[in-house]
Parts: sequence; C-alpha cells; structure tokens
Amino acid sequence: MNILDGRKISNQIKEEIAVEVAQIKERGEKVPHLAAVLVGNDGASLTYVGSKVRSCKKIGFESTLIHLPEETTEVALLRQVEDLNANPDIDGYIVQLPLPKHIDEEKVLMAVHPDKDVDGFHPANFGKMALGMETFIPATPFGIMELLRRYNIETEGKHTVVIGRSNIVGRPISILMSQKGKAANATVTVTHSRTKDLTEFTQKADIIVSALGSPDFLKADMVKEGVVIIDVGITRVPDETREKGYYLTGDVDFDQVAPKASYITPVPGGVGPMTIAMLLKNTLLARERHS
Ligand code: NAD
Repeated sequence: MNILDGRKISNQIKEEIAVEVAQIKERGEKVPHLAAVLVGNDGASLTYVGSKVRSCKKIGFESTLIHLPEETTEVALLRQVEDLNANPDIDGYIVQLPLPKHIDEEKVLMAVHPDKDVDGFHPANFGKMALGMETFIPATPFGIMELLRRYNIETEGKHTVVIGRSNIVGRPISILMSQKGKAANATVTVTHSRTKDLTEFTQKADIIVSALGSPDFLKADMVKEGVVIIDVGITRVPDETREKGYYLTGDVDFDQVAPKASYITPVPGGVGPMTIAMLLKNTLLARERHS
C-alpha cells in the first residue's frame, strides 16, 4: 500500500507557484490577487477560507477576505460580486459555499464573471471543461487529476467508479477522467444515492473516487485487491476528547481498506491540500489571462 501524499504534492505545487510569483515581482509586474467572499460563520467554511488566505500569503499572492454577516441579503451579496467583477486589481475570487439558506446559490455563482471564476463553477467554465477546452477546472477535481498525474497512476482503460454526482466533485471528476489525456482515458461509472447495489460496482473498480460525505462508508469487503482509492470526503465527527471538539474523517474506512489498496489518499492530508494548491494555480492562470 502506498500513500498518495496530497500534503507533500501540494507543497511542491505551491513552491513552483512561489517561484513564478518571485519572477513576476522581479519583473516589476502585478502579483496575483485572490479574493474570497465568506457569508456567515460556518465553522468548516471559516477553516477552509482561512487556510486559502494563509496559503496566498505564503506563496506571495495578494489576498483579500471579504467576511459578510450571516444576515447579508442576496442583493447585497450580488452587489459585492459586481464590485469584484469590476475591480481590476482582483484576478480571481471565490464565493465560499454553502451560502445561507435565504440566498440563491445558483444566482450568485451565475453572477461571477467567468474570467475571474477560479472555482470553475460558472456554466461557461463548466461547459468548456466538459468540452475539453482550456478553462478553470474546479479545484478539487483538478487536484485529484494532478495527484494522479504526479504519482503516475495508470488510469487508461481502467474502470473508475465515482461515488457522488455533485457539481463540484463527482460530476466534474467523472467527466475529466473519461476524457483523453494523462490521468484520464478511464472507463467511468458514476454512482449516487439512487444507485442499486453500489457494492457490485465498487468491487469491480480499479479506481474509486469517493465523494459522498459519509464517514467510514467504504469498507474492505466493498473493494478488490490493488484498488486505487481517492477519498474526497471530509466530515467533522464530534469528539469531546479532542481539543477542537471534533476530528476529521473521510468516506473510506482507512484502517480496513488501506491494506487492500495499491494507493490511497489519507484524510486529512490527501485531496484537501490539493484543492487549495489548485485554487492558487487557477488564480495564477487568471492573472496570466488578464495581463
Ligand atoms: P454533496 O454533499 O453535494 O453530495 C453527495 C453525493 O453523494 C450526492 O451526489 C449523492 O447522490 C451521493 N450519495 C449520498 N449517499 C450515497 C450512497 N449511499 N451511495 C452512493 N452515493 C451516495 O457532495 P460534495 O459537495 O461533492 O461533497 C462530498 C464530500 O466531499 C463531503 O464530505 C465534502 O465535505 C467533501 N469535499 C471535500 C473537498 C476537498 O477539498 N477534499 C472538496 C469538496 C467536498
């Protein structure tokens, strides 16, 4: 069993980006600037946005955090989005999800200018991705692809089973892995909550990408020997004995499944850090497009 070390690879990617930023500075050009909009005080969102902003600082990007109160209206948020679209200093920005229930997420994501949409959630960018055109690829699937590429995992002709069909993970990764190219050319099956007898699919899978958000869901008897496991799930499980009052766990019962796997991502330290690295990569690309 080999660990797909997302922390290590994401640090490599961040170092590569930092070198580019240093060169940009040397040339006296504008450094990439990422903004993040956070509405409310959801604990997990605060953590994610915090680490995105910290990563920007580390690699020499400029970053702006716009933290709005929970009761922010949809109109006010849309105005904020328009301001960011119009601000030439901002290369790219994200609106951290989930948004409070009184705000229509789709409306907000549609308002983000596609050239600044470093999350790759706008239909124009998602459509380009699906057509195999150059665009911003959503950071989590982009991170999974990069992890597979850098570990030279053979995907061509392999049966990949994706668990989950969300617009931010399951759907895009299933499209990307079925396309032509490195870490792709796979035969992909997308499974979801209405799939009958999921185990029948997972037992035949060469590669499993699990993105459902259910702790320790995937057990050893559901996978075959030698399987490659990408565990996207991150769930906070309450635990009073921990300082934070919770611990993080993935969709995969790691202790059970790891001995059967040829490669496996840990949680934390797998897909999570890759997501942040690829968001930074998208911001660098956004800056190149604007300059
Ligand atoms: P989601 O919560 O929007 O949807 C879950 C998906 O799982 C749905 O498509 C549903 O059909 C499917 N599902 C639910 N129960 C199932 C079952 N029993 N069998 C098969 N499929 C089932 O998904 P999401 O937003 O992609 O998030 C999934 C998980 O990934 C969450 O834990 C989330 O926190 C995590 N996540 C991690 C990162 C990262 O950077 N590592 C990024 C995004 C999401």
